[in-house]
Amino acid sequence: MEKITIIGSGCAGLTAAIYTARAGLNPLVLTGMMPGGLLTTTGIVENFPGFPVGIDGFELVNRMQQQAERFGARIKMGVVESVNLAKTPFSIIVEGEEINSQSIIIASGASHKRLGLESEKLLEKKGVTYCATCDGALPIFRNQPLVVVGGGDSACEEALFLTRFGSVVYLVHRRDKLRASKIMAERVLSNSKIKPIWNSVVVDILDVTKDKVTGVKIKNVKTESISVVDCAGVFVAIGHVPNTSLFAGQIELNDAGYIVQKNGTMTSVPGVFAAGDCCDYRYRQAITAAGQGCSAAIDAERYLSEL
Ligand code: NAP
Repeated sequence: MEKITIIGSGCAGLTAAIYTARAGLNPLVLTGMMPGGLLTTTGIVENFPGFPVGIDGFELVNRMQQQAERFGARIKMGVVESVNLAKTPFSIIVEGEEINSQSIIIASGASHKRLGLESEKLLEKKGVTYCATCDGALPIFRNQPLVVVGGGDSACEEALFLTRFGSVVYLVHRRDKLRASKIMAERVLSNSKIKPIWNSVVVDILDVTKDKVTGVKIKNVKTESISVVDCAGVFVAIGHVPNTSLFAGQIELNDAGYIVQKNGTMTSVPGVFAAGDCCDYRYRQAITAAGQGCSAAIDAERYLSEL
């Protein structure tokens, strides 16, 4: 029987692991599908305090994991298939194996949001991608026109990164103003290799018949006019959806699927806590996820000591 099981191994999960390990609770961390979480797909993280010249996202979570393991956290690779939160000890099924646990911290993070186009699905990994850091350097994108979709920090980060590889980077955004932070927006707008295409949405990705990306069909939302932009790659960076479908019907989720926190990091089920992108739709930063992981660990520790 586990005292505490942490579902997820991003900033929130690993910080919860550091704190619960130091509290002597011998936490078990289940990595999930993407060990290290979304931060591993980021390039340089410039806003995590303590790293004045920035730190690679993968390196940052890797260091968190080493720190957690140093204090006795156990990291188990595997994807959670189901949970039963209706009775204690809680039950978690990971790749066919049952784990019983007195308490759980859910830090399951979020996944990339998709445009929802059929052509997007058919051309995924054939020019359509959700991660410039992972795929930007591929030969198919070298010296080619590329398209980034979105107007937030992620889209700006992707566009800036892709200027190293593409001949030109078109930033297709549905409004005429970026949502991104001022510093990122300024970097994008002053980069001569990035060409914003304002007030526009991607309505189709070409060319499914050729089994590769050759362009995007975009619609200007003001004029309704349709045009085609030739490109070899489409990088979709339009936000995230929380990874919470496993918990639907067992703990309270809001309309957008985020876990509802009560009184700190508690969920609607006593003994189950939540931290990071699976419940945070407002701040969504590495540092706030880490902060919530710390809070969840302290809340879980108090819960266990009162049992
Ligand atoms: P975001 O801030 O939610 O931005 C999503 C962008 O995609 C918005 O511009 C949105 O348009 C657009 N969009 C959403 N759905 C769309 C759709 N169906 N079709 C077309 N466009 C769509 O998401 P994010 O950029 O991933 O950032 C998430 C959080 O992580 C933010 O808090 C951000 O600050 C943080 N972050 C920080 C950094 C950094 O500091 N370096 C890097 C990455 C992310 P509208 O603007 O019209 O809503």
